[in-house]
Amino acid sequence: MTPNDAFISEQPRLREPADYLKRYYGYDRFRPMQEDIVRSVLSGRDTVVLMPTGGGKSVCFQIPALMLPGLTVVVSPLIALMKDQVGALHMNGISAAFYNSTQTSQEQRAIEDDCISGKIKLLYVSPEKLLTDSFFYILKRATVSLFAIDEAHCISSWGHDFRPEYTQLHILKERFPNVPTVALTATADKLTRQDIATRLGMIDPAIFVSSFNRQNLSLQVLPGQNRIQQIIRLLQKKPDTSGIIYCLSRKSTESLAAKLQEKGFNAAFYHAKMDPDDRARTQEAFLRDDVRIMCATIAFGMGIDKSNVRWVIHYNLPKNIESFYQEIGRAGRDGAEAQTVLFYSFADVATYKDMLADNNPANLGLQLAKLERMQQYADAHTCRRQILLSYFSEDLPEPCGNCDVCRDPRVTFDGTILAQKALSAIVRTGERVPMNLLIDILRGSRSQAIIQGGYDQVKTYGAGKDLRFEDWRNYLHQLINIGVIEIAYDQHYALRRGILASQVLYEGRKIELVRPDDAPKPVVEKAKPKTEVNRNELFEELRILRKQLADQQNVPPYVIFTDTTLEDMARQRPTTPDALRNVSGVGERKLQLFGRQFLEVIQNHVRGRVQAGEKPKGSTQLLTLDLFNRGMSLEEIAAERQLTTGSITGHLVQLARAGYDIDLEELLASQVSSVERSEIERAVAVVGLPDGRLKAVHEHLNGRYSYAQLTLVTALLER
Ligand code: ADP
Ligand code: ZN
Repeated sequence: MTPNDAFISEQPRLREPADYLKRYYGYDRFRPMQEDIVRSVLSGRDTVVLMPTGGGKSVCFQIPALMLPGLTVVVSPLIALMKDQVGALHMNGISAAFYNSTQTSQEQRAIEDDCISGKIKLLYVSPEKLLTDSFFYILKRATVSLFAIDEAHCISSWGHDFRPEYTQLHILKERFPNVPTVALTATADKLTRQDIATRLGMIDPAIFVSSFNRQNLSLQVLPGQNRIQQIIRLLQKKPDTSGIIYCLSRKSTESLAAKLQEKGFNAAFYHAKMDPDDRARTQEAFLRDDVRIMCATIAFGMGIDKSNVRWVIHYNLPKNIESFYQEIGRAGRDGAEAQTVLFYSFADVATYKDMLADNNPANLGLQLAKLERMQQYADAHTCRRQILLSYFSEDLPEPCGNCDVCRDPRVTFDGTILAQKALSAIVRTGERVPMNLLIDILRGSRSQAIIQGGYDQVKTYGAGKDLRFEDWRNYLHQLINIGVIEIAYDQHYALRRGILASQVLYEGRKIELVRPDDAPKPVVEKAKPKTEVNRNELFEELRILRKQLADQQNVPPYVIFTDTTLEDMARQRPTTPDALRNVSGVGERKLQLFGRQFLEVIQNHVRGRVQAGEKPKGSTQLLTLDLFNRGMSLEEIAAERQLTTGSITGHLVQLARAGYDIDLEELLASQVSSVERSEIERAVAVVGLPDGRLKAVHEHLNGRYSYAQLTLVTALLER
């Protein structure tokens, strides 16, 4: 695609990192820490960056790469994604290449030459390739300014994704002691953090740990009954958006996808046992928005930087909070609102525990403890984000306002008596009965199991018959979660006394419970999320254009523009290249490549709405501007728009005040002579502008001047 000359403007010299951010990425400001990181790297210091997925790590090494004189070598284990990453850089007008085993030796040679001649600023390479002698030879001949180690947690055996090739990376420091290194990862834990610096041989590194809070992700937990119905209801509210449904088993990914397809949804499935070609094709279709709903096992998503994933649903409880956070983190990477929903059922916990017990891993205790934390999250009656962040040792002082608990606060009541009844029944049955049987005992059921077991003789038999079975189950879950009751997983899931039991039974400890009616219900979304408000008709038109362009260019749509950028366009409705530049995410290169097409869609939209008799707020001025920019006179615009020249002039004055590039002096000169201008100015000085209106001036001058002329003169007087 050739750049469009009309969209190339004289650029000021770039000095500060922020100038680069604006020119190449179209963003007005850095996110917290990004700029400090960039400056640390530029100062030549080794730097470790911990930022959540979607936090914006890329610019932290790409902007230094642009500003430093030589080559930046980016080490990444994700060979499959290098092409996309480099493609995205090209779209931003940044010269980059990748170098890996998928290329022919001819291609590689061309890249080597470009690195040595300085044509390429960023080179992506896999660790295996990097550590070969031939590659070191290239590096010796090129001027290397920076090494960036992406997915740096792979170097640590503490991390969850250890890659043996990464351990050799300390060679970089040995061979290039003067070249700074920046290591980036989304993995939070402290052990890994320190390990990264040490294993890379960093000297006194600067370590940046950014907040792991992703406020744009809403958090919601729903009871795991009728999941499919709930999911269908949920998805019906989200047409044309992309999302992932994580399932525990391969089989359920397939059956869920089939059920959704039956209902007319554009769904597919993905798991590790698929044919590799199918898998690659499915993933590609999702990246390109050809498939909207991906039912997948956790094999899906690693390293995928599709920024417009609008929701993530967990069909089953994840096995720990790390995995959960990473998986929901794939939603809303573009910063726009995204929804996450976790379906929680006790059965999932039991399944995991069985699985763990069967596999009997070395760290069984640790895994069970992690699962328990996950369960506590799902059961929580306090702000869920606070729980998540506290898990990552981060303090969120105020409840977040964007989780189901915050939106719908729970009311507690004194549940001490309930707890005592349950405990007493547990004790009197010798801590041998599982939950359902215990409930039957409490409710005084006459089932066979009760009669046979002689449980109708227990003193607490029927002590809780005023409550429904479901309610008891709910309270027991709560009691388990706060440690009043425990489940003996090794004793056929019998309930037994938890750590708080004796305090409740004998020491008068009070227990707060939440009524089941106040707990999360299988309904979806109270308030309309902001995104849907922003997603009007124009957004849809822009989205369609984006998809067309993406297919033409053979890239995923989000590489053209992110959802946030389209939202911003739909809101601002720019009709000139300069106004388009103000939209977040429109950098110079993309303006040249795609500006004209996007402006056309916006202009047509604005015009269409006005012709349809609507008066969309703010856009009537822009329509005037559009015609004005095509060289039409005030009179012609007024005729076309069936408005007075006074109104048209008013529009232009308002736009000029709002910062649009309109030369009012020139316009005035075309309307009145300098003598006439002085006369109007004198009249204004005499009668003033009562109520800010021109009527008095108009009359004072006996109607000799039009309102258009008066408007212009007074507007310029204000300046
Ligand atoms: P990470 O690698 O940390 O997961 P990315 O670097 O892919 O995250 O950034 C996530 C998204 O945020 C991208 O769409 C990126 O363009 C956008 N982004 C990064 N920095 C900014 C910024 N300063 N302002 C607005 N958007 C940004
Ligand atoms: Zn909250």
